[in-house]
Amino acid sequence: MLVVMDAHATEEQVRAVCARIEQLGLKAHTIPGSLRTAIGITGNRGAVDLGTLESLPGVVECIPVSKPYKLVSLELKAEPTVVRISTPLGEAAIGGGSTVLIAGPCAIESREQAFAIARHVRDAGGKLMRGGAYKPRTSPYSFQGLGEPGLEILRSVRQEFGLGIVSEAVDHESLDRVEESADVIQIGARNMQNFSLLKRAGRAKKPVLLKRGMAATLDEFLMAAEYVMAEGNYQVILCERGVRTFSDFTRNTLDLAIIPAVKARSHLPILVDPSHGTGKRSKVLPLSRAAIAVGADGLLVEVHHDPASALSDGTQAILPEELVQLWDEARQIAGVLHHSMN
Ligand code: PEP
Ligand code: MN
Repeated sequence: MLVVMDAHATEEQVRAVCARIEQLGLKAHTIPGSLRTAIGITGNRGAVDLGTLESLPGVVECIPVSKPYKLVSLELKAEPTVVRISTPLGEAAIGGGSTVLIAGPCAIESREQAFAIARHVRDAGGKLMRGGAYKPRTSPYSFQGLGEPGLEILRSVRQEFGLGIVSEAVDHESLDRVEESADVIQIGARNMQNFSLLKRAGRAKKPVLLKRGMAATLDEFLMAAEYVMAEGNYQVILCERGVRTFSDFTRNTLDLAIIPAVKARSHLPILVDPSHGTGKRSKVLPLSRAAIAVGADGLLVEVHHDPASALSDGTQAILPEELVQLWDEARQIAGVLHHSMN
């Protein structure tokens, strides 16, 4: 259910509507817009008793939201959400025509490795670096990430290079730690339907980068974002990273058609990860071009200065000089769509 407030409704009137919603045992989500404020209602099992709400001062109308996902939906908020991440290098804005490049290694391996790559990311013009301290690996015998020491390295990357940090949380404990150290909390493909982790991410005070599960439908993907938003965290960035198909020449099949499909349903920004989407260095640049052309709000790319010795995902990491080319071409393509890169 969506309560539409009058363009001239006062803050007090908005607060009174929220209070009434909470009195009914429901949750109110205030969504300010450029023209008017809307209040989303979640937590109702059936229809909400409209009589009590529609008569409150400042309320224009109450509209049922037809989609199973509510807060994520364009019905609730027609304007694109712009997630703003402040970094020492300046603000990185994601969404609403503002396109971002997030680059870095798959995993943080050492201080030397992280610093070498951070220098390249910054010199290429990036404001955000990715890098996992906690790695969800298929094999229990593979490198699992450095854990807390990895986060400590990321904190010094932030300090030394001014880059904002994007890092993955794999469970509640790591989420607590990532929330303290990173600027954006990544929830990986394997955890897209870990509902208890999604709820915890929804209580976090940092933006959440939510990757599509490798077998998730569009609705399941949006419902996962709804879990985060239902807890009160509206700073959600979606990320397409490829799905499993019979196609066997790439690691996954990058489903770029989901970008316009998401745009037709949701106000949330969506990135593309061509690294996990293809698993092959040679395919990252062409798919990055395509991703920007199809309207993605940015790219999440793995880069390594010495991919041959990377402890994870070396085959899909591009080289620093390729990052410069990718950034330059992405900027030109974004320009055609009147989008800006930051
Ligand atoms: C990653 O970004 O390093 C990662 C593990 O990605 P995904 O969850 O998409 O596999
Ligand atoms: Mn990886």
